[in-house]
Amino acid sequence: MKILVVNAGSSSLKYQLIDMEGEKELAKGVVERIGIEGSRMKHTAGEKKAVINEVISNHEEAAQLMLKTLVDPELGVISSVDEIDAVGHRVLHGGNKFTASVIVDDAAKQAIRDCFPLGPLHNPANLMGIEACEKVMPKTPQVAVFDTAFHQTMPPKAYMYGVPKMYEEKLHVRRYGFHGTSHRFVSRRVCEFLNISPVGQRIIICHLGNGSSLSAVKDGKCVDTSMGLTPLEGLLMGTRCGSCDPAVVQFVANNPLDKDGNPLGRKLSVDEVLTLMNKESGLQGIAGSSDCRDVDALAEKGDANAILAREMLIYGIKKYIGSYAAAMGGVDIICFTAGIGENNDSLREEVMKDMEFLGARLDTDKNRGCREEAIVSTEDSKVTVCVIPTNEEIMIARDTLDLVTTGKVRDN
Ligand code: ADP
Repeated sequence: MKILVVNAGSSSLKYQLIDMEGEKELAKGVVERIGIEGSRMKHTAGEKKAVINEVISNHEEAAQLMLKTLVDPELGVISSVDEIDAVGHRVLHGGNKFTASVIVDDAAKQAIRDCFPLGPLHNPANLMGIEACEKVMPKTPQVAVFDTAFHQTMPPKAYMYGVPKMYEEKLHVRRYGFHGTSHRFVSRRVCEFLNISPVGQRIIICHLGNGSSLSAVKDGKCVDTSMGLTPLEGLLMGTRCGSCDPAVVQFVANNPLDKDGNPLGRKLSVDEVLTLMNKESGLQGIAGSSDCRDVDALAEKGDANAILAREMLIYGIKKYIGSYAAAMGGVDIICFTAGIGENNDSLREEVMKDMEFLGARLDTDKNRGCREEAIVSTEDSKVTVCVIPTNEEIMIARDTLDLVTTGKVRDN
């Protein structure tokens, strides 16, 4: 069976075609600048690579171009669109309605629409991607896979905020968490890798990328995670500030600065402050680059702001690990994943420094240069520390396959 995985943004559509026999990637690509001048598609199929510059006005045209390329005699990997058995869509916010992936029908689309207020930037784009694929592949089943679903097992004490309860009851203001597909994949994969059952395991997953989140997974179920109502909460990230006193919003709104640090001369709206906290903060706001590699290089040269940004990130991860170990009554496995977690060995080393009190000892030799699936703790470490590369596309494809073949998702 061949499953197409689609991740639609407001002006982009990423895709990957996976042959589920052996879970092999056949082709992948991205349509960029949809509806904007300079739209183009980048496509890769094994050795074959192409950039197609074309006017692409909407998501339906993007989906059409994707299919045309997938069946193209030169660039394609299938001879007919009918070879695509199903499409799995990444959807950001499933609110409290979706605890697992679902086959897309009218009710599911309405529920995704109902979550627009919770994911105003992503959910409308995700739905556009679904509707575009429905139009160009009317006979092919579509599945929605939610970034929030894995975290729906959190108990109320973990997901409630201390604002008046009616905000949760009437407006669903609570912690949801994101990167759920990655946390689910890694929590399953690490147990396969270690040849153990998730039952009885207390796992902490550190998904560290442009966006970063940690989760606490006990007996295979998420019991807490660091992102909240939106992906802004939690760790310092590439451009997001992470958790801070909510009163900072009011203070910055009333006392904004321009790029040179001088008073702006007007107040900012709440939306403007949130944009600043989402897009201009984090590593970018402290060290001047959102990319951890740049920050590391600057820190190496002695740049004080880069050193500080790195310390803040590392300290934040350490504090979450400590708090999740306390929440679960201990920890058995710590996993590092995503761009930084998989590749940045020196950051992993700093995070795991002085963690013997938890029973965790990193093997610095095994850790150095490790970018693949591996155990990086010492043999006598009570906590197994692992690097587990994430693969959200495979997880989406597996759910899609399960739903269209058996009607339910295995191992949710
Ligand atoms: P996203 O959250 O957008 O999927 P990634 O998971 O790719 O992003 O993470 C991006 C971060 O990972 C960047 O800060 C980057 O510095 C870091 N990163 C990605 N690849 C590498 C690498 N090969 N070596 C070191 N750092 C990397």
